[in-house]
Amino acid sequence: MSFDIVVIGAGPAGLCFARTLAGSGLRVALVERQSEAQLATPPDDGREIAITHYSQRLLRELGLWGELRAEEIGTLRDAKVLDGNDQRGLLFHHEEAGAAQLGWLVGNHAIRRAAFAQASAASDVTLLADTQVTAVQTTAAGAEVSLANGETLHAKLVVAADSRFSETRRAMGIGAETRDFGKTMLVLRMHHDIAHEQVAWEWFAHGQTLALLPLHDAHTSSAVLTLPPAEMREVLALDDAALGAAMAARFQHRLGAMEVAGPRCAYPLVGVYANRFVAQRFALIGDAAVGMHPVTAHGFNFGLLGQYTLASALHRAANRGGDIASAWLLRGYEHRHRLATRPLYLATNLLAGLYTDDRRATRLVRKLALGAGVRVTPFKRMVMAGLTADRGGIPLPSPLRLLQAR
Ligand SMILES: Cc1cc2nc3c(=O)[nH]c(=O)nc-3n(C[C@H](O)[C@H](O)[C@H](O)COP(=O)(O)OP(=O)(O)OC[C@H]3O[C@@H](n4cnc5c(N)ncnc54)[C@H](O)[C@@H]3O)c2cc1C
Repeated sequence: MSFDIVVIGAGPAGLCFARTLAGSGLRVALVERQSEAQLATPPDDGREIAITHYSQRLLRELGLWGELRAEEIGTLRDAKVLDGNDQRGLLFHHEEAGAAQLGWLVGNHAIRRAAFAQASAASDVTLLADTQVTAVQTTAAGAEVSLANGETLHAKLVVAADSRFSETRRAMGIGAETRDFGKTMLVLRMHHDIAHEQVAWEWFAHGQTLALLPLHDAHTSSAVLTLPPAEMREVLALDDAALGAAMAARFQHRLGAMEVAGPRCAYPLVGVYANRFVAQRFALIGDAAVGMHPVTAHGFNFGLLGQYTLASALHRAANRGGDIASAWLLRGYEHRHRLATRPLYLATNLLAGLYTDDRRATRLVRKLALGAGVRVTPFKRMVMAGLTADRGGIPLPSPLRLLQAR
């Protein structure tokens, strides 16, 4: 079978990419190892994705936002960052950002379901589910993708969106910078007695990191706990009642009694940044290009931005009858996406390291950083602009922003 573009992986990034390409005239194949039924009704994986204003605009334009049910959308009005037993912390108020709210919270499975509904409705997208890619080869003349079901796909361009542990990236000889934080993150929906008031928490307590993500219901949040793997195994062994009580104690009962209200989902914390995003007739998008530590909540936001950057360039090339796999086009995508993501990727790793290290000196640096953060409004403005700005990526000094401009 022959296509213009073969996309490997129908996760949020691959699905959004296929949807963004709809109407470009390009014939797209989307290969996914999960079944079509799993893609249509994805299981709850516990992740609540913080959506920035720019991402929400893209999701609206792509028709995904309209697929979400009201009860699937949580309001992220304000956020606070706490350190140790400090009650004050660093506060991020929506008014300071000049916006009605800092962002939204939507379940990853809801995003996947909405993206699948939109991508599968596009007449120029062919879904090849329940099979997986076994080999990829690209030459100056074209690309070939072999599938486990024995089929071979021919294309002008291959785009891999097959997760941060991308096998295709490796098969194409592209290395990646990988940082294993040696910690496990538990995400768990919980009911709690005291209302969340639409405020998210990031709490760097001693020996553990906690977060609270407010969901649609005022008494339901996604509780996030980060621990070394051995300690996490003990937590996961508790029954629901004991886990509810243990989480309430970890949150120092600031939310009153807590009760388990969703599946327990645990993730190893590994950050990944591909050494290159492109090769001959080949590009990486989503986590396969940039796999963020979740602490700054930007993995999907960057995935959405990157797929849009590449798809927009492909739309333009297709409109003028140009080469959709030219080295110039692919390098342009890589350049822009690197500029948009690299600073926050590095800052996130620094932050994750700083806030999960309990040595005395690091604790002091943390205190100073949070204290300074509260007072230094330009710093807070930069963080909040990253959430509420009407363009993707984090705000950069003006000369770099000019380079970033579309
Ligand atoms: C706990 C947690 C919280 C998070 N919170 C946030 C947040 O608040 N905000 C945010 O922006 N991001 C967040 N993220 C990040 C976000 O979830 C990811 O960035 C996003 O899901 C990545 O999407 P993806 O499509 O690139 O990859 P994936 O979701 O990993 O999808 C890859 C797809 O490729 C398929 N595949 C793999 N190999 C093959 C193959 N060989 N052949 C065929 N198919 C294949 C897989 O089956 C899968 O469907 C969080 C992540 C975690 C773990």
